Amino acid sequence: MNIYNPSNEQLLKSIQEDSAQSLQDKLHQLRQGQIQWEQKAVADRLECILKFGELVQENIDDLARILTSETGKPIQQSYNEIRGAHNRVEHLKNNAEKWLADNVIEGLEGTYEKIMHEPLGVVANISAWNFPYNVGYNVFLYALVAGNSVAYKPSEFAALTGLAITDLLYKAGIPKDVFQCIVGDGTIGQAMLEADFEGYFFTGSYPTGLHILKEVSPKMVPVQLELGGKDPLYIMDDVKEVKVAAINAAEGAFYNNGQSCCAVERIYVHEKIYNEFVEYFLEEVEGYVIGDPVSEKTFIGSLTRKGQLNLLRNQVNDATSKGAKLLLGGDELAGKGNFFAPTILTEVNHEMLVMKEESFGPIIGIQKVNNDEEAIALMKDTEYGLTAAVFATAQQRAEKVLKAMNTGTVYWNCCDRVSPNVPWSGRNKSGVGATLSSQGIRAFTQPKAYHWREV
Ligand code: NDP
Repeated sequence: MNIYNPSNEQLLKSIQEDSAQSLQDKLHQLRQGQIQWEQKAVADRLECILKFGELVQENIDDLARILTSETGKPIQQSYNEIRGAHNRVEHLKNNAEKWLADNVIEGLEGTYEKIMHEPLGVVANISAWNFPYNVGYNVFLYALVAGNSVAYKPSEFAALTGLAITDLLYKAGIPKDVFQCIVGDGTIGQAMLEADFEGYFFTGSYPTGLHILKEVSPKMVPVQLELGGKDPLYIMDDVKEVKVAAINAAEGAFYNNGQSCCAVERIYVHEKIYNEFVEYFLEEVEGYVIGDPVSEKTFIGSLTRKGQLNLLRNQVNDATSKGAKLLLGGDELAGKGNFFAPTILTEVNHEMLVMKEESFGPIIGIQKVNNDEEAIALMKDTEYGLTAAVFATAQQRAEKVLKAMNTGTVYWNCCDRVSPNVPWSGRNKSGVGATLSSQGIRAFTQPKAYHWREV
């Protein structure tokens, strides 16, 4: 498999793909390895994860370079991601033993009951490229600590990162028959669906997620899907500083080139501050440095997948043909690499694709609303349910809006963030199940109820 740099189209490396046979061999190894891994104390399994965390920090310069080279993510954002993902390691260190301990319940008349949290077995982790550390850690670190062995398929667009992570896990003491990297594109992903895993944990798009759900449902094993979104942000007229709201909203929309599952994908602004907000927003985005992702000054690098350029261009054309105003950008940049100009559309409405379908790129629609009721109705007009945000001063008013949202996460005066302390989940087309928090480790276990009586 050839890996290209999306910012200059140069070949980075050719790597060996897995075949259906090598997948079966790896699965066989993982099945053997899991039996011993499960017997180890949680503290011993955790020790390997903590060592892995240290090794990642020691090798951060190389890892950030690899991530930037294959995804086009600006180098500073690669560092941010790798450093930020470490909070999962800390979170497991502080909580895993407590979460995985048996819960003993004293019953009546010398009868006892306890809940044991047993691992699922060998699990498949099919992952996305946009935040490979964050979305990878959410699955494989928690699965390993819970006593599972893991077949980890990074996206073909983050395969070098996947291999680098695998190498460090081995150096940290995770046995080779407990973690295996499955290299390849959707073809090997499909072969994983046909193989016998005891759980499927997927991060990616809704169409692939739906396909996976349909394919593996006859196996009757847990399936968890972390999918895309069309996440709304509403700016109320009582925000303390419109300028600050505009700067934060722009960052939420354009960070990682808009390629975040929880990126702000559509903005609604109260009519009283609409003009001022749009002015500050435009000024902020015009100031973004676009270019070589290796440069520390760059905020907008290249898109990871070439195909996304067409999707974005279509959204722009669709919107302008229906009356939207193109305030900035609107097309790809000349020259090599998958660069798309940061794009702002105003006078948009819900007849337009840009307000309905996931963009996953540096493009945003800003719509004026007259009141909170109109904002709520528009925010809820989506098939997705990942996150929703409100920037406002009055807490009660903000919470009324957030309560109405049918999303896994809501934000007040912040957006586009994930924390290990709280569950990460989507509703409707944004997914099934949750990672992170205590729920995130339970996802990789199955309960066994144990009853006993003293005789
Ligand atoms: P895709 O659905 O295209 O791919 C995800 C993974 O599935 C990749 O590893 C891909 O392989 C693999 N795959 C493709 N076809 C199959 C198949 N038939 N069977 C099994 N596996 C298959 O998503 P993207 O990688 O493009 O990720 C972007 C999407 O992910 C966006 O919608 C984004 O919102 C969402 N996402 C959601 C997150 C969340 O936590 N909710 C977090 C991050 C992203 P390959 O890439 O090698 O072709």
